[in-house]
Amino acid sequence: MVKIPMGVLGATGMVGQNYIALLKNHPWFEVRYVAASPRSAGKKYKDAVAGRWQLADNYAPPVGELAVEDANDVSRAAAANKRGECAFVFSALEMGKDETRALEEAYAAAGIPVISNASAHRWTADVPVLIAEINHHHADIIPRQQKNHGWDRGFIAVKPNCSIQSYMIPIHALIRAGYPVERIIVTTLQAVSGAGYPGVPSLDMIDNIVPYIGGEEEKSEKEPLKILGLVRDGVFENAALPKISAHCNRVPVTDGHTACVSLEFGREKPSLETVKKIWTEFRSLPQEMNFPSAPAEPLIIREENDRPQPRKDRDSGGAMALVIGRVRPCNVFDIRFTALSHNTVRGAAGGGILNAELLKHKGYL
Ligand code: NAP
Repeated sequence: MVKIPMGVLGATGMVGQNYIALLKNHPWFEVRYVAASPRSAGKKYKDAVAGRWQLADNYAPPVGELAVEDANDVSRAAAANKRGECAFVFSALEMGKDETRALEEAYAAAGIPVISNASAHRWTADVPVLIAEINHHHADIIPRQQKNHGWDRGFIAVKPNCSIQSYMIPIHALIRAGYPVERIIVTTLQAVSGAGYPGVPSLDMIDNIVPYIGGEEEKSEKEPLKILGLVRDGVFENAALPKISAHCNRVPVTDGHTACVSLEFGREKPSLETVKKIWTEFRSLPQEMNFPSAPAEPLIIREENDRPQPRKDRDSGGAMALVIGRVRPCNVFDIRFTALSHNTVRGAAGGGILNAELLKHKGYL
């Protein structure tokens, strides 16, 4: 198969580095364009990340030789698009919300689809917030989005907040199986890599927990309602339930967000055995497509009392599986469990790549 040449905006950052590493041997996509801030622009990629490369895995040697472009200069990407070197971009930019929103729209207007990790467009009326296993049908709003803006091939699709990934797919699996969830109380223990690089100062993190991550609780309480909602006549209708209360904490873990979750169902209440069976059997992507980034087992249940643990479980299923443990009755709601996902892979770059695989399958890339 001829690979699709594409680009990464914010390629030098924490999420951008994960994109570059995960795409090293990707069978469908090939990184041919990298962009970051004016601070990195003009340098070779290998020089721009020298001394700040965070991953054990390396980048493909040809990517190291690419010149980093200024992500604010859309004309450079448009020219690369015309040369057949940048069919679409992943956006892993960390800049002001208004600037990100405008910049991503400028790429789409230039005919370059944008698959974004930034939060800027998550509440834009015609932009889908995709978790491939939950709401792949939300991608069907893309033609409407293109029509609304007069865009030709360009569009914007985004990923949700990384902290909700570990528990929203299991919760969706239960709802889909006929057990609507009405209330959720979730406490997250989020890794420091979630704050980018250099991120939270080490003196705030060592021997410490910070019980506040700006904007994270609001995002965790709202975004699931769009993801679980419907698209009717080209417009999103958010789900009314579940009602969610989130406590988000930053903890001294490198990678892997953990969530401790209590659920209350409606009238239909599954037994613990039914819950585990639903999760073990859960599959939602078209299996015959063999999406390169989809784990064979999306939900892995650990029966040991002391799992999941970030260091031991975050790399399960190529760091794309969600690991669930401590499934037990809840004294206040109905059930409770602990779930873990790799925040910079499943929660960021890996999830973005899986969305791109889905969008290619649907013919949008
Ligand atoms: P990061 O490590 O701080 O990287 C930020 C990237 O944006 C760098 O490539 C940086 O380029 C570039 N950038 C900064 N200012 C810019 C500007 N004015 N113009 C153009 N480019 C600019 O951040 P991150 O953690 O990778 O996060 C990237 C995005 O993903 C954010 O929107 C974040 O909210 C989201 N996200 C992160 C995670 C996670 O786990 N970390 C998870 C989900 C979503 P230079 O290197 O040249 O400064």
